[in-house]
Amino acid sequence: MHYPAPMQPAPPSTIAPRRVFIETFGCQMNVLDSELVRDQLLALGYRLVPSAADADVVLFNTCAVRATSEQKVLSRLGVMGKRKKERPELVVGMLGCMAERAGADLQRALKHLDVVVGPSELDRLPALLDEVAAGQGQVRALSGHAVRRSRTLDAAMERLEALDQGRLVDPDQASAQRYVRVTRGCNKMCSFCIVPFTRGPETHRDPDAIVDEVRRLVAAGAVEVTLLGQTINHYRHGEVGFAHLLARVHDEVPELPRLRFLTSFPRDFGDDALEVMATRARICPFLHVPAQSGSDRLLKKMNRGYTVEQYLELVRRARSALPQLAIVGDMIVGYPSETDADHEASLELLRDVRYKTVYVFKYSPRPGTVSNARDPDDVPDEVKRARNQQMLSLQHAISLEHHRALVGTAVEVLVEGAAKLDPGDRQGSGEQALVQIARPARTDGVRLTSRTRGDHIVAFHGDAKLVGTLARVRVLRATPLSLSGELI
Ligand code: SF4
Repeated sequence: MHYPAPMQPAPPSTIAPRRVFIETFGCQMNVLDSELVRDQLLALGYRLVPSAADADVVLFNTCAVRATSEQKVLSRLGVMGKRKKERPELVVGMLGCMAERAGADLQRALKHLDVVVGPSELDRLPALLDEVAAGQGQVRALSGHAVRRSRTLDAAMERLEALDQGRLVDPDQASAQRYVRVTRGCNKMCSFCIVPFTRGPETHRDPDAIVDEVRRLVAAGAVEVTLLGQTINHYRHGEVGFAHLLARVHDEVPELPRLRFLTSFPRDFGDDALEVMATRARICPFLHVPAQSGSDRLLKKMNRGYTVEQYLELVRRARSALPQLAIVGDMIVGYPSETDADHEASLELLRDVRYKTVYVFKYSPRPGTVSNARDPDDVPDEVKRARNQQMLSLQHAISLEHHRALVGTAVEVLVEGAAKLDPGDRQGSGEQALVQIARPARTDGVRLTSRTRGDHIVAFHGDAKLVGTLARVRVLRATPLSLSGELI
C-alpha cells in the first residue's frame, strides 16, 4: 500500500520563525483543515499565538455557505487593513471556501490581502507565505474545480493526503476530541449549496490511512474521534463501503472510547451501517442527517434526490435498529417559492421525526449556486424570520421533551471545557480561534460543559482536571438547549 510519506518536522525556514494566528469560520471540515494547516506550519517552525494582535501572520479559514459568515470575514479583513497600516510587515491570509469563491476578486479590491488559498490547495500555504515574506506581493492558490475534476484529481488527492497524514499528534497539544477526514468534496449539487464548487468533487481516502490516523490520534490522547465527510455514508474505496469502514475503525482501534461520524445524506444509508452501529457499543448512537425541507415539491427544486416518505423510511429503520438514537437535522426556511403549505409540511416533518436538535437556516442566495441563478429570492425577509421563529419554537418544545426524559438518569459525558469563560480566560478574538491549550487554568472547581454519547450538552460543577476525560453525571435539570447535573 502506498501513501505519501508523513510530513516530517522540517528544519526551520530560512525566514525567521513567525507567530501565526488562525481563526476558523464554518463547519467541522474547516476546523479540521485549520488543524492541518496549524500542524503544517508548526512543523516548519511557526508558533501558534492566541490573538491576532500578537501575530506576524493572521489567517482566516472561511466559509461560503452563508452570507453572514462572509460578512464577518469582510469585517475582520477591514480591521486587518487598518492594522497593516501600522505594521506593514503583517501578513494577512484567507483560506477555505470563501477564498475559493471570491478570493481573486477580493485581492484586487483589498491590497492588504496577501494570501488566498482554496480548500483543495492548503498544502501550498507554507510556500506561498515564504513568497510573501520574500517580497513577491499578493499570491494565491485556487483550484478551479472544473479543471481538477477531469485532469489533475489524482495528483491533487495525493498532495492533500500528505496534508492529512502530516498532522502532528503531539500529546502536549492534542485535544480529546479529534476529527478525521474520510471523504473530501461533494457530488450532490443541491441547488442552494456552494460546497461542490469550492471543495470540488467527492473523493475517498484509503481505509488503511484512515485507521492508521485514528490509531495515532488515540495513542496521543484522543477520547472521541469523529469521522468527517460531506456525504459520509457514500464512502467507497474499492470494495470498502461506509459500513465496512466504520466497523474497521471500531474493531481495529479498541482503545478508542467513542467513535462518531458526520454528515449523512438521507439517500443510500444502508441497513449494514445501522447494524454496525447497533452491534458496536463504542459507536455513538447519533445521526446527523439533514432533511432541508418537508415538502416534496421543494426537495425536488433543491435537487435533493429523495422524498419526504423516503426520508421518514430511513428514520424508521434507524430507530428500529437503534432505539436510543439521537437524530439531528438541518432545515431551510424561506427557500424560493416556499408557501405556507410547504412550511407547514416542514413543521410536520419535525413532529414526525422528533429530532434531538434541528439547525434552522433562513435561505440566502449564494453566488455561483443553481438556485441563485434560477430561483428568484421571493420570500420576504419578515416571512423567513417568522417561519424561522416558528420552527425553532416547535423544535425547542420537542428538544425539551427529549431532555426531560433524561432527568434522573446517569449519563456518560466527555468533558469539553469551562461552561463559561471568565474574561481572563478568554483566548483569541474570533469565532473559533485555534489555540493549543483547551484546559482552563483554574482547578478549584468550575462550571464545566460536556457532551453525552447522543450529543446532549450537560453542564455540571467539577474540577477542571476533568476536561478531556469521560465522567458520569446525574442529570438534574432540563432546558430546550441543554441539561445540567451533578458529578457522580
Ligand atoms: S449534500 Fe448538498 S448540501 Fe450537502 S455539501 Fe453536498 S451539495 Fe451541499
